[in-house]
Amino acid sequence: MSYFRPAIDAMTGYVPGEQPPVGIKIIKLNTNENPYPPSPHAMEVLRNFDPERLRRYPDPFAREFCQAVSDALGIPADWVIVGNGSDDVLNVLVRACAEGSDRPVVYPTPTYVLYPTLAAMQPAKVIEIPYSNDFQLPIADLVAAKGAITFIASPNSPSGHLVPLADLRSLAQQVTGVLAIDEAYVDFAESSALPLVQEFDHVIILRTLSKGYSLAGLRMGFGVANPKLLAGLFKVKDSYNIDAIATAVGTAAIRDQTYKNDCAAKVKLSRAKLTTDLKHLGFNVLESQGNFVLATPPAAQAEALYLALKERGILVRYFKQLGLADKLRISVGTDEENQILIEALVSLLA
Ligand SMILES: *Cc1c(COP(=O)(O)O)cnc(C)c1O
Repeated sequence: MSYFRPAIDAMTGYVPGEQPPVGIKIIKLNTNENPYPPSPHAMEVLRNFDPERLRRYPDPFAREFCQAVSDALGIPADWVIVGNGSDDVLNVLVRACAEGSDRPVVYPTPTYVLYPTLAAMQPAKVIEIPYSNDFQLPIADLVAAKGAITFIASPNSPSGHLVPLADLRSLAQQVTGVLAIDEAYVDFAESSALPLVQEFDHVIILRTLSKGYSLAGLRMGFGVANPKLLAGLFKVKDSYNIDAIATAVGTAAIRDQTYKNDCAAKVKLSRAKLTTDLKHLGFNVLESQGNFVLATPPAAQAEALYLALKERGILVRYFKQLGLADKLRISVGTDEENQILIEALVSLLA
């Protein structure tokens, strides 16, 4: 007999992008981290952190953080659930809503590869609806799949496309379960679907501090939804899922919208330049609204390029799976980092 439930035996665990030890000199363009440091105000809070706050348990709801989110986004503070990264909120959502074949998890593909892993743990059935080549949202098929949760990442990873608000609204009008809109990359995008949470009780918007706020190591994310929907999620989450340091530092980061927006503006400029430079080298590059691009190298050599770049100390993301095996997902670095990547590609393609 196995130690584990059949669902756990049957699943393959989530494989995160490589995280080499800090200190190793590497150009890291594989997990969509922000190339700029976190807000100086947030770092000051970290330096001056009061040890008394570590002696005590943290606030289970991170209310000071919820208030900062409320001030920044213009939604009530009790419409916010905070997680140990938005992955934690995703996990809570799946645990609360999905189960077996009657309560499936539905999403268009390709998208974030954590969704099927979370479903497999329940276990809950997964229904994947492929995107068309031009990434139109397959609304009718998504609705017909009757998900207990329908996940839409927008901007999507790894494609980088933004799903139009009108399409998300149409989907929200038709789905019966929860519609979870994963806005991990919204800080680099032209628009957000946040207004939908005010229109629909069953819509939750997920955000993270890992990308736009340069705080992937802090582990902080949040969901925004009607308190009726949050009530079920609060029953499921760990009581102390956000630690006191993350709460304090994350609060300062959210309050520093100017710094975040300035960094995002730089990333967007670099994204445009990287896109142009890759196209000059013969890559096919999708228009991206994230801090990364999905690029198809000339002559179907994505895996070889990924390995050759790695040898030169440049990490990009390669997904060995259907529809992605001829592509590389490249995070937008600083202009200097992007230039080193481009120079490496010039010599590798020569
Ligand atoms: C990075 C990412 C997340 C999760 O980020 P956390 O670090 O757990 O907050 C969620 N969804 C998508 C699509 C992402 O790319």
